[in-house]
Amino acid sequence: MEKMPFAEPWRIKMVEHIKMLSKEEREHKIKEADFNLFNLSAEDVYIDLITDSGTSAMSDRQWSALMLGDEAYAGSKSFKKMKNKITELLGFPYIIPTHQGRAAENVLFSALVKEGSVVPGNAHFDTTKGHIEFRKGICVDCTIDEASDPSVYHPFKGNLDPQKLENTIQKYGVENIPLVVLTVTCNTGGGQPVSMENIRKISEICKKHKIKLIFDSARFSENAYFIKTRETGYENKTIKEIVKEMFSYADGMTMSAKKDAIINMGGFIALNSQELFRECCTFNIIFEGYITYGGMSGRDMEALAVGLEEGTDYNYLHTRISQVAYLGEQLKKAGIPLLEPFGGHAIYVDALKFLPHIPQTQYPAQVLGVELYIEAGVRGVEIGTVLADRDPITRAERPPKMELLRLAIPRRVYTNNHIDMIVWGLKQVWNRRDKCKGLKITWEAPIMRHFTATFCINEK
Ligand SMILES: *Cc1c(COP(=O)(O)O)cnc(C)c1O
Repeated sequence: MEKMPFAEPWRIKMVEHIKMLSKEEREHKIKEADFNLFNLSAEDVYIDLITDSGTSAMSDRQWSALMLGDEAYAGSKSFKKMKNKITELLGFPYIIPTHQGRAAENVLFSALVKEGSVVPGNAHFDTTKGHIEFRKGICVDCTIDEASDPSVYHPFKGNLDPQKLENTIQKYGVENIPLVVLTVTCNTGGGQPVSMENIRKISEICKKHKIKLIFDSARFSENAYFIKTRETGYENKTIKEIVKEMFSYADGMTMSAKKDAIINMGGFIALNSQELFRECCTFNIIFEGYITYGGMSGRDMEALAVGLEEGTDYNYLHTRISQVAYLGEQLKKAGIPLLEPFGGHAIYVDALKFLPHIPQTQYPAQVLGVELYIEAGVRGVEIGTVLADRDPITRAERPPKMELLRLAIPRRVYTNNHIDMIVWGLKQVWNRRDKCKGLKITWEAPIMRHFTATFCINEK
């Protein structure tokens, strides 16, 4: 008997019009943008895959929750609703709202990270690394070796290598390590999950050395989906049960609610320790706002509470992650080199294999992003040498092991027809890949250069 297909557990109530420019217009626009995709006007992009952050579609329940927003400065009903939902789903008693994920990092790291602090993790996210290096701390990447080979299959490429973590602790000394950051799923590593077994192991090591374990949790429910579908012993557990168990091993978390809480803006810190909570509150008041709103409006906290509930629903997660996998499978069929297994929120194209004639110092993943925009109006983002930035001390380029173009899929936004368009566009570039030329940076900022750098074509 034919297997029953799986369709979205929602239907579309409102649409947003998008337009496609001509190829000539796009060639002109990208030149005007100095070949930096961040510089394009969003209206000149047909399918926007620059991020899945804050770009998802809210549900009718979330939109109606906005009307319940209590905008009281202190002690609003909306804060209580959000706090109770977070505590119910994730287990932490102390909650601090912030305006987005990096703000949560700023507040928490103000309390924890000092000059010379060492923060081990599994491929720190760029803002996380930015906040640590800005404080003259050092990030040590302890991800398992399998993670850096795009063609190796491993079900949990986000895993942190326990031995590398122990070695780092030995090398730098416990007293210099205020926390370990575990990113679920690991965004920089390709949207790759961390297994429950690994979480447990890392938590044991941290407990043994009395080091705080903090989860960078933007895509925690996608991580839970992978645990349910890939890890033995979890196939019959609900997403919510898995999520609860994951966080039971952590001392706290930072959250970009723009991802798995399916809202356009917002974030929070959640903690077990009252002492650390109190310390963070002071920084929150300085940087974000009073402790019961921290840069969020009451209505956004309402939408967040609903979004967390919807974001931890199995059927929703299955549709979402299957759509990302559909993109991956179509590209793979066309012979396009990809990072495997496919990430939860994005497909990563292997630019080193796609454009082997362009050296990393000429930014092949950036080139690929520019070419895909020209071809089909699709905007991805470089996760490669530009993003890796210069060494903070030597100022030398530090090309990473992987050079990727990330195609991040917003939640509940595009149909599979859009996915087919992306596939078509990338195939066109694939067919003329030998003729693509490298890029050269003409200006860059001293930190986080990828957002604002300008480029020109490297004619050499
Ligand atoms: C997006 C993200 C952040 C930063 O959150 P913002 O809301 O963009 O400030 C931090 N860590 C990870 C893993 C993320 O994906």
